[in-house]
Amino acid sequence: MGKIQQLDDLLSNKIAAGEVVERPASIVKELVENSIDANSTRIDIEVAEGGLSRIEIVDNGDGIESDDLLTAFQRHATSKIKHENDLFHIRTLGFRGEALPSIASVSKVEVKTCTGTGAGDELSIHFGKVVDQKKSDSRKGTSIEVTQLFHNTPARLKHLKTVHTELGNITDVINRQAMAHPNVAFHLKHNGKTVLRTVGNGDLLQVIAGIYGISVAKKMLKVEKDTLDYSISGFAAKPEITRATRQYVSLFINGRYIKNFAIYKAIERAYHTLLPIGRHPIVILSIELDPILVDVNVHPGKLEARFSKEQELTKAIEDGVAEALRRTELIPSVTNPKQQSIPKPKSEQPSFQFDPYTPEAEKKTTLKFEEKNRNAGRDPVQQVEEPRVENTVNSSEESIFTSERYEYRQQKQPERLEQELTPDLDLQEEGHFSRVPPMYPVGQVHGTYIVAQNEQGMYIIDQHAAQERIKYEFYREKVGEFEYEVQELLVPLTFEFTHTEAQVIEAHQDELASIGIFLEPFGGNTFIVRSHPQWFPSGEEQETIQEIIDQVLSDKKTNLKKLREDAAIMMSCKGSIKANHHLRNDEMTALIESLRKAGDPFTCPHGRPIIIKFTTYEIEKMFKRVM
Ligand code: ADP
Ligand code: MG
Repeated sequence: MGKIQQLDDLLSNKIAAGEVVERPASIVKELVENSIDANSTRIDIEVAEGGLSRIEIVDNGDGIESDDLLTAFQRHATSKIKHENDLFHIRTLGFRGEALPSIASVSKVEVKTCTGTGAGDELSIHFGKVVDQKKSDSRKGTSIEVTQLFHNTPARLKHLKTVHTELGNITDVINRQAMAHPNVAFHLKHNGKTVLRTVGNGDLLQVIAGIYGISVAKKMLKVEKDTLDYSISGFAAKPEITRATRQYVSLFINGRYIKNFAIYKAIERAYHTLLPIGRHPIVILSIELDPILVDVNVHPGKLEARFSKEQELTKAIEDGVAEALRRTELIPSVTNPKQQSIPKPKSEQPSFQFDPYTPEAEKKTTLKFEEKNRNAGRDPVQQVEEPRVENTVNSSEESIFTSERYEYRQQKQPERLEQELTPDLDLQEEGHFSRVPPMYPVGQVHGTYIVAQNEQGMYIIDQHAAQERIKYEFYREKVGEFEYEVQELLVPLTFEFTHTEAQVIEAHQDELASIGIFLEPFGGNTFIVRSHPQWFPSGEEQETIQEIIDQVLSDKKTNLKKLREDAAIMMSCKGSIKANHHLRNDEMTALIESLRKAGDPFTCPHGRPIIIKFTTYEIEKMFKRVM
């Protein structure tokens, strides 16, 4: 006798549920898609405890006929396709006939439905078993309530995340559906409170405002591009607003949200050179096409699609977005929110121009440096006498750029590295140890590099990288301090977020507060900030805070150490002298002196070299003065 047997329906549905409905958000997605497929114009979604205790979807769609109601809960039962050929002409969101039986196998489901003619029907299914079916007086449409989710699959239940996370996922699902279907009125409520409500009047920009806030919606540019095969429409944000992740690029193919790397790349090409490295735009695009040109059946979650004319599509998207960006003047508007903050009196601004060290910061750096040397078991004097390359790398403090710098060093030949560093060790007059020897500026090249000299040779310094390093060390000290002067703002700065973002931020309020950002809830998903540490990069407070928050949002598990590190790097880039900036001789001298006082004067916070050297001997060799 063979060992293989056909599984019964209940078991196979439970197995299928593992794929189709892995968490509350996937159930919400399936049910809302069914409502959309049923031509609903209004869909109300109510969830409790992140969907873990209850999910209810009420629509005003076509309803399910009495004769179909039980069938709808059978495996592979669908009204959406009949023949194999239909698979190539899918206009609906569903077509596999798996969602309802899967959901019903892992929860208690109560359905009320009515097609609008005659009485309606009610059906109760508990963990895959029909427990009740009767006539009802339902109005046209369908309502489905799901409770006790995964109570018969404890392992699954255990894998669910916190209420916050699950609600975040549900909100993402509804946000996308709302953007994909601006003609449908969505109302999402969690524990009785409205999370998102759209009016369903077809105005996508209004939906975007509801999700990302009015200030973002105001900076969206209309995208419209038609080719023979594709009709592309939507919005792309002006480059002045950016995000730290690609999650804000939403693509819809005939009303279905998909992810597509080739399209992301096309959008990024359109924004090329307009966005800072590592930043992403907010883009919402709907692509309408003949279903024959796309295969939506290539991914279990239908999250990916395969296009038969992908190049035509990506080209059209790149052109469409690029045209939108180039059609409009992109100079950021004068009514910049940062101007709402009161400008600081000049005397209070950190004097960064060319000597970023306040005496206080300088003292600290010196102390710290001495401490490191002590930790290394040797005092500075000894180190001068007996210089060793390994000891010039501070290993006591692990930071994200330490490893980058290490790689940079690794690339060099050990002897050359020693040569580069050995003569540099020097004991300064004020008892401050510097690994960069005294040197004197000769001039500037291309407004970017400082050429300096001393007896040992000639040096080229990247002025921008040097200042970034100096500022970075200044800010790294500052963000680690517990007490600091606070700048009160006359007009608070405001920050708007999506509901999901607001929750992440709330969960990280303590970390943000510990680097001086005190966010106060200000109704809805808006927060305000009434003060900030005195030393925040002046004139760029709004961006600074926004970027720190973005960091938290993009890296939800961020810890305080990383947050401080990232904040310091970000602030150090603000207002640094850029390339192509003429420096006077005294300014160059000041910059070199500040660099000499830096703890790690050889690389900028991103790991690029700051200073290179030509020894006198090497120069003489090149000119054949010595052999
Ligand atoms: P699929 O959506 O892939 O067809 P489902 O299991 O999600 O499979 O649904 C099965 C069938 O139940 C659908 O084909 C549809 O006929 C019917 N149905 C489900 N939800 C609704 C709804 N909200 N309104 C009307 N009909 C529905
Ligand atoms: Mg479905």
